[in-house]
Parts: sequence; C-alpha cells; structure tokens
Amino acid sequence: MIGVRTKLVALLGNPVGHSLSPLMQNAAFMHLGLDVCYLAFQVERKDFPLALKGLRALGGLGANITIPFKEEAFKAMDWIDPRCRGVGAVNTVVFRKGALCGYNTDVFGVKKSLEKLGSRKEVALLLGAGGAARAAAVALIEMGYPFLFVANRHEERAKKLQEDLLTCATHTSIRTIAWQEIPHISYDVLVNATSLGLEENPWSKEDLKGCLAPAIEKEASVLDLVYLPYRETDLVRKAREKRLAVLGGKEVLLLQGVESFRLFVGMEAPYEVMESALQAQSGEGVEA
Ligand code: NDP
Repeated sequence: MIGVRTKLVALLGNPVGHSLSPLMQNAAFMHLGLDVCYLAFQVERKDFPLALKGLRALGGLGANITIPFKEEAFKAMDWIDPRCRGVGAVNTVVFRKGALCGYNTDVFGVKKSLEKLGSRKEVALLLGAGGAARAAAVALIEMGYPFLFVANRHEERAKKLQEDLLTCATHTSIRTIAWQEIPHISYDVLVNATSLGLEENPWSKEDLKGCLAPAIEKEASVLDLVYLPYRETDLVRKAREKRLAVLGGKEVLLLQGVESFRLFVGMEAPYEVMESALQAQSGEGVEA
C-alpha cells in the first residue's frame, strides 16, 4: 500500500510506454513487502537533468535510465562504477548521501545471458555500435572472449566503439567488419545489439540469412537483445528453427532488472517473481 513513507524508484526515458520494468520491479518490491514504488516517467530532453535532480530532492532511491538518456546520464554522475566506464552509458542511478552513483546493469544482463547459453568463449560477432552494443562489448571483453568482430551499418561508428574500448580490451582483439562481410566470417556466438527485429525496423530476408549463415555452419549460440511484447523476434525464431542455442532480449531485460533491484534496495531480487511478472504480461515464457 502506498503511504507517506513509500520510497520512489523511477524510470526516466522517452518513450517509456512500452517498458516492462515497472511491472517487474513492483512485483519484486511487493513480494518482499518493501515500501517502494516504481513509476515510469516520459521526460523531454531539456528536462532530463532537472528530472534526475528532482528525483534526488524527493528522496528517491534511484532510477533506471533508458533511451535516449543513457549517455547523458553517464556525464551527469558524481561517481561511476569502474566496470561501466568503458561503456560510456549508465542505465541505473542510485542516490547515496546525495551523490549520483551510476551503473550499467545491461553489462550484467548480457554476461549472465551468455553464461546461461553456455556459448563457447572463442570468437564473438557483435551487431551494432550504439549504447546496447557498447554494454554487450564490455560484457564479452569481461568474459574473456579473445576475439570480437563488430559489424555496424555505419562502420565508422563501430570503429569509434573499437577505439573507445581499446584500453579495457587488453585480452580481446577487436576487429570491425563491413556489414556485407558477415556471411563470410566464422563465429561461436552472435549478439544482436541493433534495433533490427523491432516491428518498425524489421530484418530484411537477405540480412537475416546472411547473419545466421555462419552460425548454422558452426552451431553457434545466438543472443538477441531486442524483444517484442507478444512474440519472438525473427532472429530468435529462425535460430530456434535451426536448432541453435538462443536467448531473446527479455532474458537480458530480466537479468539487468534483477541487478538494478539489488542496487536500489541492497537485497537480492526475487528472480522467479520478476520472471513470472514478465511472462504474465507477454502471455509467453521468457525464452530459454
Ligand atoms: P541505439 O539507437 O543507440 O543503436 C541502434 C543500433 O541499431 C545502431 O547500431 C544502428 O546502426 C543499428 N540499426 C538501426 N537500424 C538498423 C538497420 N535498419 N540495419 C542495420 N542496423 C541498424 O540503440 P541501443 O543501442 O540503445 O539499443 C539497440 C536495441 O537493443 C534496441 O532495440 C533496444 O530495445 C535493445 N536493448 C535491449 C535491452 C534489453 O534489456 N533486452 C537493453 C538495451 C537495449 P547505425 O549506427 O548504423 O545507425
């Protein structure tokens, strides 16, 4: 029950209407009897710094940050978790004694998902060079992948990612490749961190076939960060049809949410409760 002592955790982004985080986090707070409430706020760009400071002034516990503010949030922090410095983006903010402390739990979500997939730690192919791709690249580096291909529609953005990650990729060799080269390389795990697969940004038949061809050849694992509310993405469906080990973006969402929860309240999150909340909403299982 919301009362005078209820603490607030917010999701700040634009848009936020599609987010499953309030559902998942509130289910967890309720399950543990915590007097905390999670609300989503659609914020205009010019108001983002004000929203963050306002939340702190209201005694909020913290916030999740989503598109398009993750990079701006990174710059606004008083303290950054050293593990997310290479990412350059923050998706979780915790207020500690008035200080804005920034984390990136997408890295955790990707790492745990890849561990769950049990993928071979040899060659990885990362699609994308935006915020999600940066988190995925740091996850792959931290997991000790010795070789990472990065392919992005605009290759110069992939080169920038490569450059920015050079200092933390001491044991990972990163090579950028053109999108057209993908069908001709060999890899053990494919991570899609582009927005390809969303209803408004569908895969072309040729791209989907080209990206998966090496995976089928080598029985690689596939992790798609993209998720849709009521069905599997085309990449997940196709990979499953080809009997590859595959996980979709809801798994990453769940795992990053579990870690954010721990940071907000300092307690282990009730994983099954959060998973059930997601499943109930989508009317399907979280892909495993
Ligand atoms: P950005 O906008 O920062 O990056 C988008 C990426 O997608 C860029 O690499 C862009 O390439 C690429 N892209 C877009 N359209 C196309 C296309 N038609 N063909 C090829 N590449 C394309 O977004 P984010 O990195 O923040 O997020 C990417 C996706 O990951 C989103 O769909 C988001 O929902 C998902 N995500 C999921 C999470 C989860 O918990 N499951 C967590 C975070 C993100 P280019 O640079 O050339 O434009």
